[in-house]
Amino acid sequence: MYERFEIHAMAGYVPGEQPQTNELVKLNTNENPYRASEKVYDAIREICDCRKNASGLSRYPNPVAQSFREAASEIYGVEPEMVLCGNGSDDILTILTRTFVGNGELLRLPRPSYILYASLAEIQGARYEEILFDENWRLPPAFSETKDGLKLAFLPNPNSPSGTVLSRETILEIAERLPCPLVVDEAYADFSEFHCIDLVSQCEKIIVTRTLSKAYALAGLRFGYLFAHPNLTEQMLKVKDSYNCDALSIAAATAAIRDAEWRRENRRKILATRKRLTEGMRKLGFSVPDSQANFIWSVHPDFKTASHKPIYEYLKQNGYLVRHMNYGVLGDGLRISVGTDEQIDACLSLIEKGLKRFNP
Ligand SMILES: *Cc1c(COP(=O)(O)O)cnc(C)c1O
Repeated sequence: MYERFEIHAMAGYVPGEQPQTNELVKLNTNENPYRASEKVYDAIREICDCRKNASGLSRYPNPVAQSFREAASEIYGVEPEMVLCGNGSDDILTILTRTFVGNGELLRLPRPSYILYASLAEIQGARYEEILFDENWRLPPAFSETKDGLKLAFLPNPNSPSGTVLSRETILEIAERLPCPLVVDEAYADFSEFHCIDLVSQCEKIIVTRTLSKAYALAGLRFGYLFAHPNLTEQMLKVKDSYNCDALSIAAATAAIRDAEWRRENRRKILATRKRLTEGMRKLGFSVPDSQANFIWSVHPDFKTASHKPIYEYLKQNGYLVRHMNYGVLGDGLRISVGTDEQIDACLSLIEKGLKRFNP
């Protein structure tokens, strides 16, 4: 064996299915069902247009994506030095783990949540510790307790797969008690009633990560970023690849976050459809926690001892791809992304038919 022991021993993160066909309606990886702002596509065309930009793609991009940092700084009222950009927020999460967690040290994450965090610890040769959410999707005090070797804690807010949130007060309390930085992963905060970006200035241990994949309909672009105290971003800049964001994604991302109008309108549509989906699933007997994200988590009491997998399979056979998540002793369920009204109505009637078939 040539590879490092840690790599050999780990299973490797498996992302959600990305079928490269248009035959399935994708409600499995929380992409936005709408097309991004046309200003984004214009910005990409402008870079490629030889009359407007003679060198096109022949030069290296700005290493820190300065135009985006300045836009984010104006919009969120922070210093540009507090913003760090990456090739999707998965790249940002990698930079964080590499910066703060060394070989044999400890990373903390809640469960059920985003499974990638555990894989990042494994690649690093670090240990990880999962703290279970309670039945109301709250975290016990163990999440904020000190422990030997603890160097970083990840907390998605809103959480996935539940879509639930912890309050700003709770986040601040957790961060103040922890002996290490707390990463609040706000991949879905654009769909939530609040966010924690301003807490970064109040507490040096709070780091907030964001992505354009979900709320800006740009999962294919690969652009993520974080807000942290300048002392921390200074260290993280040493860890990231020199040119981790390309010229096209920097220009497109900058245009995207400057288009507040597009985002407002998109959010309005997603929230309306989320309500329709939540109510529809509850009518079919599913238990669905109130979601502040662009997906819902649903568990049917009749399937608590058996698996939800037959319903997932039935939906897939009929052209609708949702996410079947199985958390072992914690049980399984279906995570369904908010699509268009039309897609959600069709998916709901298929689920109704599926329930009759598998649970007569
Ligand atoms: C989707 C997701 C991300 C990753 O987003 P990318 O920017 O596409 O890499 C990060 N965290 C959570 C919780 C997510 O669901």
